[in-house]
Amino acid sequence: MNIDTTFIAQIITVIGFAVGLSIAVASGRYPRHIRDSLRAYAYGKFLLGLAFLIVGMRADNAPELLVPLANGVGIAGLTLNYTSVRLLQERPVWRQWPLAAGSGVALGCLLLMLAGSDLSGVRMLASLAAAVVLLAIAFEILVRYEDRGVPHYVTGIMSIGLAGIYLVRMGAGMVQGEAPVGQLVDDRIERAVFVLSFLGTIIGAINYVLMASDEFNRELTKLAHTDGLTSVLNRRRLFELGEIEFRRARRYGRDLTVLILDIDRFKSINDRAGHPFGDRVILAVAGCCVGQVRQDDIIGRIGGEEFALLLPETGAEDGLLLAERLRGAIERQLGPLGAERAVTVTCSIGGVAMTAEHSEFSDLIAQSDDALYCAKNAGRNQVCFFRPAEEPSAAPVTA
Ligand code: GH3
Ligand code: MG
Ligand code: MG
Repeated sequence: MNIDTTFIAQIITVIGFAVGLSIAVASGRYPRHIRDSLRAYAYGKFLLGLAFLIVGMRADNAPELLVPLANGVGIAGLTLNYTSVRLLQERPVWRQWPLAAGSGVALGCLLLMLAGSDLSGVRMLASLAAAVVLLAIAFEILVRYEDRGVPHYVTGIMSIGLAGIYLVRMGAGMVQGEAPVGQLVDDRIERAVFVLSFLGTIIGAINYVLMASDEFNRELTKLAHTDGLTSVLNRRRLFELGEIEFRRARRYGRDLTVLILDIDRFKSINDRAGHPFGDRVILAVAGCCVGQVRQDDIIGRIGGEEFALLLPETGAEDGLLLAERLRGAIERQLGPLGAERAVTVTCSIGGVAMTAEHSEFSDLIAQSDDALYCAKNAGRNQVCFFRPAEEPSAAPVTA
């Protein structure tokens, strides 16, 4: 089949511009990091479209200077695709990469041409640069990306395939004789490169949009599970995870301890220091909880100034120690914050360790709540644990 590379270049131009425009327009309604990524991708497609526009024009004996320009613009566009993948994962990005890579390749091509190299030297340099960027994209997606799905594998494998064909093109440039500068070399490799670039533009764009929508869904799920003020879990999610942990602990006979923590006399903190200051206290208490527990422990804000902590693999003794450590840390660390407004920030904690008697997660919550009231009644700033087969201990059990 005799495929005209100039024609394919023009088609890639049209598709690149159309895809870039659609994604740029749609990007506005997404959260910040996804929007930044979509825009980088869209600008990348514009540049790629522009590069192929220049390539398509070269058939009409255009000036030789366009060769380095087309290659530089193309590599800048491809590098923007690389940055867009990193932005999607909220990884740090050096914003000048596309400019640096594009102008480096353009300059390299120009120097090669000024040094009297034929077009194969330029093709080799540009192909190598394209292969490197495509492999970097594949690495970001197939190795470093968290929670990969089908679109990630398609994009990653396609990037490797495209990198491979560019490396073949580079190898062909090494063995091939002189190629005329003023026209496209109409050999099989060149046609394969153009056809695959064309397919890559379409398949890549579809899968990239799927990747971005995947990321958006993850973001929504995170929002649905998180408390807006403190960023710990919200009540609904904590109870969901509580049910899961409860079933797991019961099935495998593992330990599980539940703590409920409530800030003491918080109403008067609000009244005396104002609601915004109250919010700062809630945030600081959440920070203390996060700082005191293990990675696998689960923290949620289950009420205004009330938190629950689920401690898997933790029995009564260790649970009590942790609760006491947490109570002490809050008293110490929040002392200076309270002193700003002449209020005292302390908390009371009620806890219970799971036993064979517990048949539902809600039993644990109810009993740690009872224990919490026991701690409140005993004078606050205390830890109290529920004792099985007894009333909650009248005197607080402290470590
Ligand atoms: P106790 O020691 O018995 O727990 O007394 P308390 O004053 O802390 O208890 P109470 O439950 O009566 O007061 C809780 C207060 O928390 C009442 C409510 O105005 C306040 N509150 C609830 N949610 C928020 C919030 O998001 N921000 C702030 N600043 N205050 C909140
Ligand atoms: Mg309270
Ligand atoms: Mg309360």
